[in-house]
Amino acid sequence: MSEWEKNIRKTIPYVPGEQPKVKDVIKLNTNENPYPPSPKVLAKNLDMKSLRLYPDPAASLLVNAIAEYHCVKPGQVFVGVGSDDVIAMSFITFFNSEKEILFPDITYSFYDVWAEMLKIPFKRMPVNSDFRIVKEDYICDNGGIIFPNPNAPTGISEGLDFIEEIVKNNTKSVVIIDEAYVDFGGETALPLIEKYDNLLVVRTFSKSRSMAGIRIGYAIGNEKLIKYLSDIKYSFNSYTMNMPSIILGAESLADDEYFKETVKKVVITREWFTDEVKKLGFTVLPSSANFVFMSHEKAPAEDIFKAAREKRIFVRHFSSDRIKNYLRVTIGTDDEMKVFLEFLKEYLNGYALN
Ligand code: PMP
Repeated sequence: MSEWEKNIRKTIPYVPGEQPKVKDVIKLNTNENPYPPSPKVLAKNLDMKSLRLYPDPAASLLVNAIAEYHCVKPGQVFVGVGSDDVIAMSFITFFNSEKEILFPDITYSFYDVWAEMLKIPFKRMPVNSDFRIVKEDYICDNGGIIFPNPNAPTGISEGLDFIEEIVKNNTKSVVIIDEAYVDFGGETALPLIEKYDNLLVVRTFSKSRSMAGIRIGYAIGNEKLIKYLSDIKYSFNSYTMNMPSIILGAESLADDEYFKETVKKVVITREWFTDEVKKLGFTVLPSSANFVFMSHEKAPAEDIFKAAREKRIFVRHFSSDRIKNYLRVTIGTDDEMKVFLEFLKEYLNGYALN
């Protein structure tokens, strides 16, 4: 290693799901929404000439729209470039003690990447044999807590009492609830933010709002928390939110009817698909998200993953020990899920014959 290399901040990066370059694929691997963004978003005319100007550093149009939507004050809202950006900023801002931060062993695999990169001590708390988060594990001295609710990649969600118990017993640290998938059937922790000044709830436009490509995430919490978060953001980059994101994000929030209709379609497809794969011998964890986590009694998940890929059906497989026999399957349209189901039937028939 050369001398200059010794001083470099080295890190093992997060590996996002594959974005296939080929066309005609069925893409069920990165939890995108199969439906387009709201027609209001699609119809919005953007004044591209104004791209010569810097955008509003406070992204006020979007912040105000989010505040109004959730009935909170604009000072309780922080926006960022996807919830990944919001959570990364939150790690920097809130997890600054010598104590370990806590998150589940089976969870969003970006958390340990941020913790490692920022040299934040952390501890993975094992989920139980049903893949549920064990509440009592989080009631102890710690440097902060983060987990998704519903959890990913399991899809399992916990109720408000469960979350409140954790927040209530951790007044000395910040608790972040990552609600990337909450709209598909979880229970939001937002009602608790007035009561607990150490709770931050993070949301995204990438899943339920069908806008992964535009990169909008946000956090809601006590005004003091948001101020600390903004101070860090302004110490990196004043203009995180670009003009199209600010305008189109606000437009999406103005179309609640379309939003609810799309979410409902995904949920109906999820329930139907779950019933169908169970008939094929799959165990499916109870999902409150726009994906299911499933494992077959005989066929190894990695083999199914590879065979599906050959048929241009992309699902997600994780190689870590406890979940290596599971597939995470994003809920697509009914037609896409029917094709995947047919593939599974054929594959399992062939498997039985061997
Ligand atoms: N949290 C969880 C649990 C996720 O699965 C994802 C999606 N990869 C994110 C946060 C980040 O989503 P985005 O940056 O698109 O808002």
